[in-house]
Amino acid sequence: CGVFGVIGVADAANFTALGMHALQHRGQEAGGIVAYDPETGFNSARRFGYVRDNFTSRSVMDTLPGSLAIGHVRYSTAGSKGNTAIRDVQPFFGEFSMGGAAIAHNGNLTNAAALRRELIERGSIFQSSSDSECIIHLMARSIQKNISERIKDALRRVEGAFSVIAMTRTKLIGVRDPLGVRPLVLGRVGEGWALSSETCALDIIGAEFIREIEPGEMVVIEHGEVQSSRPFGPAKSRFCIFEHVYFSRPDSILGGRSVYETRRQIGVELAIEAPVEADLVCPVPDSGTPAAIGYSQQSGIPYAMGIIRNQYMGRTFIEPTESIRNMGVLLKLNVNRALIKGKRVILVDDSVVRGTTSRKIKDMILDAGAAEVHFRIASPPTAWPCFYGVDTPDRDKLLAARMSEEEMREWIGVDSLKFISLDGLYRAAGEANGRNRASPQYCDACFSGEYPVAPADQIENGFQM
Ligand code: 5GP
Ligand code: SF4
Ligand code: MG
Repeated sequence: CGVFGVIGVADAANFTALGMHALQHRGQEAGGIVAYDPETGFNSARRFGYVRDNFTSRSVMDTLPGSLAIGHVRYSTAGSKGNTAIRDVQPFFGEFSMGGAAIAHNGNLTNAAALRRELIERGSIFQSSSDSECIIHLMARSIQKNISERIKDALRRVEGAFSVIAMTRTKLIGVRDPLGVRPLVLGRVGEGWALSSETCALDIIGAEFIREIEPGEMVVIEHGEVQSSRPFGPAKSRFCIFEHVYFSRPDSILGGRSVYETRRQIGVELAIEAPVEADLVCPVPDSGTPAAIGYSQQSGIPYAMGIIRNQYMGRTFIEPTESIRNMGVLLKLNVNRALIKGKRVILVDDSVVRGTTSRKIKDMILDAGAAEVHFRIASPPTAWPCFYGVDTPDRDKLLAARMSEEEMREWIGVDSLKFISLDGLYRAAGEANGRNRASPQYCDACFSGEYPVAPADQIENGFQM
């Protein structure tokens, strides 16, 4: 998901819609905005589909006046999947004795099922199937006198990954979980302030990138002032390395690093780790593009657009049903036949999850007359599900959980298949000495199986780490 909020600017909802548009790659199922205006109070709109189709019309935007707003773009990793119910669309809103508050959450809470059971037993009435709604109910149960303290209370009880943006009548609040699994950044816009999942959304509103919210940090912005606190005990940062590989936009800056540069460097590492003789290096667009550029630069093999992407199609992985995902590859990608015929082609993609994409692309490329097909993957084999906000399927659907690398090569049907090593990935992400085994610098659980937060709900359901 993506979260965005702004305070201290006229027409905050318009800025928020622009920010959400720039974060659309983080979630395409639905979006919502809550705005506050002293005259009309809190107003909200939630819609299915793209930001540009919903939060541009006057009939919607005119209902969201005020100089304070937050927004959320949804990609379902918890709660209803695929057929998202509108009641699951954030931000969530609650009325408390001291006034209203809205929250928007990116990440995934790993103890939400247990919390929900407990809260329902004690009288909470849930409106949605979303894990994030627990936060509102925990806030309602807190005895603190102001909302930011109640948010702290609530977030001390949840486990897992959360970058949360909240608002009251006068405050914009941002919090990152102690490990900082999901991103959250602070920007300055005119006299006001913005919080965003990624810096690319600051660019679109002309905001200046000030800094990241740190892991375990809470900022409360009121009357133009930013106040920082540390509600949780000390913990070592474990940012999601997959944000660098795939999830974030390449024009964003994460952890002080250009996402594009990390991806290009992954390609460089791949060319060193897994060279092969070939005529062309082609990305699987868009997510494989920077790594393909790096591979080509390092290997000296020409870069070419062997696969053309239909720009009117979104991210296929994010389509939750199998049949649409299958179709999706064809709707989205087509081979540049004239270029491919008779060539030995290196294809660079960001990840292999179920293998659907790779297999379809191999078919297309061979059908177009390629002489050889070599896959190079910009992440290690995805052998474990993510419980922190990326919707990887159950283990039994993950190709790498069932097969060795050679079996995967054979199943996909290509001449060679190589994944970047975990150390190579860390080097590309700026860790010159690779992965620190005793204390890894990032979360990499989907590759290593080492979960930085035990997924309590999953373990209760029989998941074995
Ligand atoms: P597969 O077809 O192997 O199941 O999925 C891999 C493809 O899904 C890659 O091309 C990758 O770009 C795309 N993808 C989209 N969203 C995600 C995600 O959340 N996780 C992973 N691992 N891959 C994703
Ligand atoms: Fe990111 Fe993978 Fe960790 Fe999930 S498990 S937070 S996708 S690195
Ligand atoms: Mg892809």
